[in-house]
Amino acid sequence: MQTKISYKEPRRILHPTSGFLKGYTHSLNPYVGCAFACSYCYVRQMPIALFHGQEWGTWVEVKQGAEMRLRKEIQKAKQKGPVTIFMSSSTDPYQPVEHQAQITRSLLEVLVENRPDFLFVQTRSPLVTRDIDLFSKIKDRIRISITIETDLESVRKIFTPAAPPLASRLRALQKTADHGLPVQAALAPVLPFSERFPEILANIVNRVCLDDYFMGDGSGGKRTERLNIKKRYEENGMEEWYGPGIHQKALELLRKEFSDHQILISQEGFLP
Ligand code: SF4
Repeated sequence: MQTKISYKEPRRILHPTSGFLKGYTHSLNPYVGCAFACSYCYVRQMPIALFHGQEWGTWVEVKQGAEMRLRKEIQKAKQKGPVTIFMSSSTDPYQPVEHQAQITRSLLEVLVENRPDFLFVQTRSPLVTRDIDLFSKIKDRIRISITIETDLESVRKIFTPAAPPLASRLRALQKTADHGLPVQAALAPVLPFSERFPEILANIVNRVCLDDYFMGDGSGGKRTERLNIKKRYEENGMEEWYGPGIHQKALELLRKEFSDHQILISQEGFLP
């Protein structure tokens, strides 16, 4: 799918948080829109996507000059108290266009100079490893969370065909962990996976976050229902992996390799 790229200077880059992100003072989105176009993405139901006029996943707006705004805004925010940042809540900070635009990297450079009290980096792109040098400079106040919902490429292609392949995400987890950075694998939302998946993850990370549509879409599963995701499970004979109890099933499987304190459930896996 071709992604339409546009460029715009943001009026503001640090946004006060609420709801799911209430443990943070600010969210930081280097882009608007997302080329990964996940079928279950809850942002599809939010005004940012609904009022754009083009289908979610087909467009990305680059926040040009974002680092200049961030420099001013973080200095001001730090004068008022602790600053905890979630990057990103309504896009992936490592869009394919980030290879050239380097907006996320420029924001990280500002954050290295003006350290927040905590920075959570949420992505599903292996491009995140490009910035390990910067993460290492603030490693005592950062967590990197890499989404890997399954170990089955056939399943990924059903739900997130435009997202990076799973093998590249496993390598990114490994590389990040090898550098001693705090990293977690986010099975969020958990998708049907093989019996080997917990063992594969346990060989790389010591922390996983488990989430499903019913805990994690911000509406008890209603947003996901409106996206008609259940149909994808039915069409592919995977109904037993859809429902409010699915995280329990996944939890039992993960417990074979991880202890309870290494498995964080839904929102707790994303807290500062
Ligand atoms: S990567 Fe995140 S923001 Fe982008 S489409 Fe997927 S769930 Fe939505």
